[in-house]
Amino acid sequence: MKKVTSPYIIVRRSKIHGTGVFAKKDIPQGARIIEYVGERITKAESDRRADIPLERHKENSECGAVYIFTLNQRHDIDGYVPYNTARFINHSCNPNAESDIIRGKIWIIALRDIKKGEEVTYNYNYDYDSHEDHPCRCGASNCIGYILDEEHWWKIKRKRTLAKKKRLSKKTSKAVSKK
Ligand SMILES: [Zn+2]
Repeated sequence: MKKVTSPYIIVRRSKIHGTGVFAKKDIPQGARIIEYVGERITKAESDRRADIPLERHKENSECGAVYIFTLNQRHDIDGYVPYNTARFINHSCNPNAESDIIRGKIWIIALRDIKKGEEVTYNYNYDYDSHEDHPCRCGASNCIGYILDEEHWWKIKRKRTLAKKKRLSKKTSKAVSKK
């Protein structure tokens, strides 16, 4: 299979994580930056692959699920193939792109104008269930600390608020018992 590329991008080392994808030229908001391609698989095959550790990622024990994209109710796309350049795009909690399915194809689309040289990122939208396996080091000022769909962020925030309250109430009770 021929590598899928795009005139918009260049692949090089990233400060966020390993290899990243960068804007080769200015990318206008709404542009389809690159298609996320891979092997079309059934949900059953997807479930099977999801738990298999990836060879090249043994050091951080990533599993197949990391590259599997939901396509529709019956099929997923496994992007863990050499011709899928979009697999190098890093996650960010403050992304400049997003993934969208258009006529059965997964596209990475610019959320805003992206300047030449900027790293292209999107939110991987992982589920809450396994968030602790995927810490985030994207460096964005709003980073939630995990690679996680923004719709679940409130759960992390609520957990942190509760933990803070607990700490504070412990401190208060200590102060009281000293008297
Ligand atoms: Zn982050």
